[in-house]
Amino acid sequence: MQKTETRELLIRDTKRVRWSVSGDQNGPVLIIFAGIHGNETAGVHAVDHVAETLQNRNESLKGNIYAITGNMKALELGVRYVDTDLNRIWETGFDKNQYNPSDTTIHSVEHQESLEIKNSLEWIFKKHKQDASRFIFVDLHTTSAESCAFILINDTLANRKLARKFPVPQILGFEENIRGTLLSYINNLGHQSIGFEAGAHTNEASIDRSRAFLWLTIHWLEIHRLSEAEVLRYEEVLNIHPDLPDSYYQVKYHKIVEDSKKFEMVSGFQNFDKVEKGDRLAKENGGWIEAPVWGRIFMPLYQKKGRDGFLIIREVSPIWLKLSAYLRKSFVHKLLRFLPGVHVKSGHAFWIDLRVARFFVKDIFHLFGYRVIRKDEHTLICYRR
Ligand SMILES: [Zn+2]
Repeated sequence: MQKTETRELLIRDTKRVRWSVSGDQNGPVLIIFAGIHGNETAGVHAVDHVAETLQNRNESLKGNIYAITGNMKALELGVRYVDTDLNRIWETGFDKNQYNPSDTTIHSVEHQESLEIKNSLEWIFKKHKQDASRFIFVDLHTTSAESCAFILINDTLANRKLARKFPVPQILGFEENIRGTLLSYINNLGHQSIGFEAGAHTNEASIDRSRAFLWLTIHWLEIHRLSEAEVLRYEEVLNIHPDLPDSYYQVKYHKIVEDSKKFEMVSGFQNFDKVEKGDRLAKENGGWIEAPVWGRIFMPLYQKKGRDGFLIIREVSPIWLKLSAYLRKSFVHKLLRFLPGVHVKSGHAFWIDLRVARFFVKDIFHLFGYRVIRKDEHTLICYRR
């Protein structure tokens, strides 16, 4: 069959699906989100650049790629969001009783945006029901503070396996602290998903890193194989902090801000900077906020929008990672229900009474791949991821 001069890119009228490309052979379906936050345009530039290259090179592809535009209204205005954060309103599918959106959420610009995104996803799922070997999602972001690139994943073994291919730090179990993200929604649908944070909003390098990440994703999913030299070149673009281990990190503390206008981070913090317990990190309502634990500072808030002040993360030991991978595949987790204070809620969920099960409960359930959420002072809920 004769090939056409340039590859045909399908652009839909709605612009929600920014572009898509179909391979000559069946394979995975990669879905890229860009601009879920309207002030984070690096990802948008990067996906468009990848589209251009794909169009001009016309190499054979195995699978399909879709680029989806995130918060279109906020992108137009150049703001993070208009009414409410589009990356905090996807909390459904794991406990409907906990999903109680206020009226403001339902009538918000972002609610409408989320419905349109869901429609696009349903359209893609339907279209590739027969031919897709699997669906994989990536979500491109940038941060308000200076940062190297890093990856956020819900801690499933499948996510770990894919994320491990990239030479950047990986943050596990982020969804226990930041609720209602798009990635959690995708994970709850049963698909792999990776969040990629490229660096500071306004840093030019964030576009290069997003682009490098996208090409490497396309390569590792075998939609299109890069040459060894190209892989090395893109890895080089990502890997910029020789003193920062590109291993796994876990959230140890999360500072939630009631009013971001009354919260001021001490200036100069970069992502992954080391902090000691007691270090002064921010001012809130005129008083100092000190680090309650040691670790590394993560996503310090340097913009006047958002409720996540900062997080403190710590490296996860390789032994824990191996043990947890082993345990998740083993029969041992069938025994969890017999631990004292553990009550079965459904096939995938447990309630833990902390008055009975005091020690290491959270750690044990993490090992077995559960998402742990505090319901009240005495109760934890653990969901199988
Ligand atoms: Zn973002």
